[in-house]
Amino acid sequence: MVQRPDPLESTPPAFGAQAARQILRDGFGLESLSLEPLSGERDQNFRVDTGNGERFLFKISNPADDGSVLAMQAAALLHIERVDPGLPVMRALPTAAGEAWLEVPGPESRIYPARLFTFLPGQVRVNTALTTQAIRSHGQITARLGRALRGFFHPAADYEILWNITQLPKIRPLLSHVSDGTRRAQLEWILDRFDARVAPVLPGLRAQVIHGDMSLDNVLFDDDLLVSGIVDFGDMTHAPLVCDLAVAVADVLHGRGDAIEAADAIIGGYVSVTPLEDEEAWLLADLVAARLAAEVAITAWRCGMYPDNAAYAASGEPGARAFLDAIEAAGIDTVGRRFRDACRQLPYRRSVTGALLERRRRALPRSPLFYSQPVHLVRGEGVWLFDADDRRYLDCYNNVPVAGHSHPRVVQAVTEQQQLLATHSRYLHEAIVELAERLKSTLPPELDAVMVVNSGSEANDLAWRIARAATGRAGAVVTASAYHGLTEATHALSPEEWAEGQQPAHVATIPAPDGYRGPYRREEDGWVQRYAGRIDDAAVALGDHGFAALYLDPAFTADGILAPPPAYLREAARRTVKLGGLVVADEVQAGHGRYGTHLWSFQASGITPDMVVMGKPMGNGFPVAALVVRSQLLEAIPGDVELFSTFGGNPVACAAALAVLTVIEDEGLLANAAKVGSYLRQGLLTLAGRHPLVGDIRGEGLLLGVELADEARRPAAAHARQVTEAMRERGILLGTTGPAGNVLKIRPPLVFRHEHADLLLQALDEVLAPS
Ligand code: PMP
Repeated sequence: MVQRPDPLESTPPAFGAQAARQILRDGFGLESLSLEPLSGERDQNFRVDTGNGERFLFKISNPADDGSVLAMQAAALLHIERVDPGLPVMRALPTAAGEAWLEVPGPESRIYPARLFTFLPGQVRVNTALTTQAIRSHGQITARLGRALRGFFHPAADYEILWNITQLPKIRPLLSHVSDGTRRAQLEWILDRFDARVAPVLPGLRAQVIHGDMSLDNVLFDDDLLVSGIVDFGDMTHAPLVCDLAVAVADVLHGRGDAIEAADAIIGGYVSVTPLEDEEAWLLADLVAARLAAEVAITAWRCGMYPDNAAYAASGEPGARAFLDAIEAAGIDTVGRRFRDACRQLPYRRSVTGALLERRRRALPRSPLFYSQPVHLVRGEGVWLFDADDRRYLDCYNNVPVAGHSHPRVVQAVTEQQQLLATHSRYLHEAIVELAERLKSTLPPELDAVMVVNSGSEANDLAWRIARAATGRAGAVVTASAYHGLTEATHALSPEEWAEGQQPAHVATIPAPDGYRGPYRREEDGWVQRYAGRIDDAAVALGDHGFAALYLDPAFTADGILAPPPAYLREAARRTVKLGGLVVADEVQAGHGRYGTHLWSFQASGITPDMVVMGKPMGNGFPVAALVVRSQLLEAIPGDVELFSTFGGNPVACAAALAVLTVIEDEGLLANAAKVGSYLRQGLLTLAGRHPLVGDIRGEGLLLGVELADEARRPAAAHARQVTEAMRERGILLGTTGPAGNVLKIRPPLVFRHEHADLLLQALDEVLAPS
């Protein structure tokens, strides 16, 4: 690295107007001028107006600036002009002799480089005058400048300058100039953090020649408060790209009461042009604090050294102190997360939870929420969910993000496809065909026809239509607390949601195979067969409607996560077939590998259903569902009746569904569900031994139920609610299920690991302990 005298150690040149005029006339051929001095930290600047209406910036540089640096600046301006001609930067004008600058002898026998530039319109603004839009535009222009300089190289860029954030450790000796002890301690704290956390990572960040000082002094705004000019390339150096953003955040916002909040706008503007990499985003708050610390320390030092120029040097410093204090008060890690979130352009994080709740209640009065104090989520990652205050929750409940929240491969598949083509399925497209073939390959060969729809309800609804057409009958059998959907037809198949006394005449219920509470208990021989035998009674109860179909969730999730032995499903299917009904396996809950044994939970029993319904986890959050049927059943639907749904099987949905299947396979999620599920189950059994409130542990893979009951096996529903609330307080999300709502529902993303199971078990152990 080239060591170069630091210009901060020199005062700016101080040529008189007369001398300046003479240099302009002799060196640049400019006559009849009016000169207006402009401020400058280490250069002397003039606005020059010629008689014929032309306007220039005349810059007499600090003699400490060496020629190679000036040559770099000239080359950079030319480079920017070539790469992004619309960027409002100055154009350098040659001397009368065709040189890039003029060397002017001056005081102390030193040589002062003098340069002429085009003059940019607009004016420097104080930051309190800036609108959010103006702040955003500053962020955008900073990013554009970084982009324009991306391919620029110059040997002189390899020099050290104290203002460069990466050089922060060098300001430590200057701290002795900071007289206020509390302030000094604050700066030391920031320097210590920098040494420990930032300095080791800096060499790995993407770096290039950057502007180095995108502060408000160097950016001009037009009357609409949009950036109209970037000036002063005197701090250009090779440094991590993110430093330009850090300087902009620090300098544009210091002195504003809302500095931390307003950072969202400048960061948002920046990343709308150049997204930040993760490491850069994580470091941003520390880099901003570093810049502010540098400003405070350098100002203290310079004020002591050059009292004459102190007013300029100190101009932004009180704001820097205020911004530093705000960061310290909010907690630098909290600010760090906030800046990181702003880098990711998180939408929907602005509303205060209470106000949002009120709005939701007014606008969506029938939309249910979990918890007495609803959880206000803004993002998810793997098994973790984060609320608006950035509190982290372990997700032990949600099966939709089967591959983990925001799985990068699914996100990428969806994004890429959305960018390419998002239309319906009436055109030929590979994705829907590939998805259908892929699904078929996971199922018994008899299940050979696929229909891609948008929700579990829609798939079950369609299954019902097919069942009726294929059997010519109109009655269904479901378990006593089943859930199969929201539509008119599937609501009728969902006793869990029936209002009191509202059982539809065409639906008969059977008791779900609950071996804990009965009527048949697991201790009895043949208990599952006895449960299955109830199908015969139900078929009789259907009377003239006839038995068209048996709908079963093989895990009986809504019935309390019963997950009966495979013999139940075998016997239930055998009886249904005998009675001429169709078997619909609703895999919306238990499918996509949750059982840990097979991709589809019915496969554990070896049956071949007539139809299989899949949904919820299918797109890892992207709405997509499917119905797979024996194709001969479709013959009952006349050929000219179209089975088509606009969004069903659109390329984006299919891309999501394909990515999910790939991730399940590539990441071994089936095996993980089996392994972690059995570990968790073991842990739950241990808890059951310790806590009398735990009546039963059931489930398969990563679908587990903890039934809370008293000694007489009476459901402890109130306890179950309290447990989920208390777990939420501990940052763990669970649900409840079962006819009495007394079964804790554990159904996490399949990327759940042993350490997550341990967190869950430990918290549950504490919560179940009598207080
Ligand atoms: N079937 C089962 C077993 C379900 O659990 C659900 C949803 N909870 C559905 C069907 C309905 O799916 P959707 O909400 O996607 O319409």
